[in-house]
Parts: sequence; C-alpha cells; structure tokens
Amino acid sequence: MSHLIHRSLHADPPLAVRGEGIHLFDQDGRAIIDASGGAAVACLGHGHPKVIEAIKAQLDTLSYAHTALFSCESAEALADVLVGHEPGGLTHAYFCSSGSEGNEAAIKLARQYFLELGQPQRTRFIARRQSYHGNTLGALSAGGNAMRRAPYQPLLSPAFSHVSPCYAYRGQGEGESDEQYVARLADELETEFQRLGPDTVIGFIAETVVGATLGCATALPGYFPAMKAVCDRHGALLILDEVMSGMGRCGAMHTWEQEGVVPDIQIVAKGLGGGYQPIGGILVHGRVMHAFLQGSGAFMHGHTYQAHPVACAAALAVQRVIAEEHLLENAKAMGARLEQRLLERFGNHRHIGDIRGRGLFWAVEFVADRASKAVFDPALKLNERVKMEGYARGLACYPMGGTIDGRQGDHAILAPPYNVTAEQIDTIVERFGAAVDAAL
Ligand code: PLP
Repeated sequence: MSHLIHRSLHADPPLAVRGEGIHLFDQDGRAIIDASGGAAVACLGHGHPKVIEAIKAQLDTLSYAHTALFSCESAEALADVLVGHEPGGLTHAYFCSSGSEGNEAAIKLARQYFLELGQPQRTRFIARRQSYHGNTLGALSAGGNAMRRAPYQPLLSPAFSHVSPCYAYRGQGEGESDEQYVARLADELETEFQRLGPDTVIGFIAETVVGATLGCATALPGYFPAMKAVCDRHGALLILDEVMSGMGRCGAMHTWEQEGVVPDIQIVAKGLGGGYQPIGGILVHGRVMHAFLQGSGAFMHGHTYQAHPVACAAALAVQRVIAEEHLLENAKAMGARLEQRLLERFGNHRHIGDIRGRGLFWAVEFVADRASKAVFDPALKLNERVKMEGYARGLACYPMGGTIDGRQGDHAILAPPYNVTAEQIDTIVERFGAAVDAAL
C-alpha cells in the first residue's frame, strides 16, 4: 500500500522511473511518449543536459539564501532575460514556486497597487467561467471551473465574480459573426463592471488561451483588445494567466503578443522551468511598478522559497536553450504539423466536435453527437479511459473534464516539447487516434 495521497486513492498510479527526451520510462521499462509534457510543463522534454548541468552548478555554488536579506545571481539573471528588454513595457518579475502562487501574487499585487494609488475602495475582481487559475483559495476563487470550486465553495472569496469566456465552439450564437460575438462578450464585461460599481473593480483576470478547463480554447481576433478597452475605461487592470499557454507554448514567448494587448500583470509557470524545478512567477508592467516605487516601496507578499536560486538557475537554463536552439520556430512548425495531422485523423470523426489550439498546444473536444454537441455521460469517465488507453499504447496525454459548466464535457490536450520532431508528431497522433477509438 502506498502512503502517498495520490490523485486517486482507489488505484496506485504506475511509477515514472526515468525520463529522456520526449520519453518517460515506467517501472516495467516501457517507453511512454510524453505527448503533453504532463500538463503542458515539460517544454524541453526530460533530462536536457544543459539544464541538469546548470542545476548541478547552482547547487555546488549556492542552494539557498533568504530573500529577506539577499538576492542571488540566478534570480537576477532570470529577471533580466524575461523583462530586461521590457517586452510591451513589462519591467519587473517576481518568482515563486507554482502557477497557483503566481496567481495569488498577481491578485495581491493588483490590490496593493490600488492602495498605493489611494483607491482602497477597489476590492473586486472579474474573472471568467470555465477557467482555471490554481488550487489555492485565492486562485480557486478566481477560477471558474464549477466542479473544482464546488467542494470548497463556502471557503471561496466573494471578491471574485465571473463572466463568460470566449468559447466560440459553444458560446457563439448561430448566425452571429465573430465581431458580434466579441462585442457581446465586451458588453457582458461592461455590464458586470456596472453591476459591481466600476470604481470598485481591481482587474479582469483571464487565461490568454484557456487550458485545462476548456482545452486550448483560443480567443477570437479582437477579443482581448475589446476586453482591455473595457478595463481601461474604468481604470482596472488586465491580468493574463499564461501559466499553461505562455512561455513559448503557443509559438511566441508571450501569448499576449499574438493577441494585440499587453497585460498589466502576467502570470507564468509551467514552461518557465519546464518541470526541472518548481517555479512560477509574475511579470509586471512598468506603470504598475511605478506606483510601488513612488509609494510604499515594498510588495507586501513574501514566500520562504521566492526567487529560489536553484529553481531560477533551472528556468534560466531552460530559457537559454529555447533561445539558442531556436525552439520557438520549431514549436511553430511542429505545431502546424500537429494541427494538420489532427485534422486528417479527426476532422470527420463522429465523436470529435472541435479541434482547436495554437503552436504546440492542441485539444480535441469529445461529443456524444456532433450535430447537437451533446456531451458524453460523465459516468463513462471518458477522460480516464482515454488516458489509460493512451498509456496502454505508450502515450501520455492530458484528458480533462469540465468543458461545460455544470455538466462534465470532455477534451484531451496534446502539448509536446518544443524540440519535438516531425516523426514524433506523427507517432503521437497515430497512438492518440488509436487510444481515442478504443476509449469511445
Ligand atoms: N493557471 C493556469 C492557467 C493553469 O493551467 C494552472 C495549472 O494547471 C495553474 C494556474 C496552477 O498552476 P500550479 O498547478 O502550478 O499551481
């Protein structure tokens, strides 16, 4: 019997014993293609020698120094790499240990920003339904995944309310143009500002591309500029959660670059450290930092492991490898191939309602019936079946539920490493296709 609290307490999971490149090896020595990098984490695959070397060198030099007194070279260098060139006007970085912590930091920094400005009445956030921002209570309060929220509802903060996501497959009306749909969503956001009282709102929080809850749901062109215009009108912040979709996953270093907006605060994690160390963070716009620099001069939020030397050294190495090996170009090219292969394999599949994504971040949405978009009975546990049929065929993918509010809804995400090869893409789709057919 395992003494570990696994995600399921009914069955112990297989052991991952070793990782190399795109492969994980289980206790039986079977090579499993890690086609989703866990939850879009392993952006360089496993065991990259340059990252391992950097971690070892950091451990040999400095394993830990508390940030109450010290900074360290790896954290300084990582901040320089991410915001030294001030992308879009983002000038400062704060590093923590996960995406949830990054969201907590963003929420608190945004609140404190308005205290610095002398606007203490701003206490509310608007987020979106069918979103995920993490499992800690602040992040879960921001999140709009009904199933994940339900058990903890009494503990969640009433400071967060939710509007519709941009989810064209199910949200766009019949005959409604893209422009009309975007305008309707902007109206909905405006209405929520008015309901709350516009000068009580701190900010609007959204995943740039919705990850786990909807499965790689990209926004329509013009959506983010329209939402930002509403925020700007009321002096509220735009906070973009790129924990899953950012740091190269969608083919650009930051996914907001593809959307025509710059966030006031951006949350990063997963692809930042590629899973080599636990690390997340926030990148903050210069005008937000200006209020702190002119004001109290301190962000009232500290963690024992913030800007951890080894985590930062790992992330720095990951980011250097991405740049040196031109992996964003490869992510774009291999992403186009993945899209093509998915369309060939599933374009006419009677149980695949939608194929969507960008870069190396793709999902298929499962439906019981394509015409009505009816979902499968949750009791079928389709997620679990796709996952295990994949594993039986030497493939790890990331199937999820929660696509539809209140009812289950299922999809599966493929998010291979940025250094994936064309042959590996083909094998992934082949095995994934066989797993889906067996599971349905
Ligand atoms: N935000 C998004 C968009 C995520 O996808 C996740 C994790 O899946 C998180 C936040 C939470 O990150 P973590 O699991 O590292 O706490």
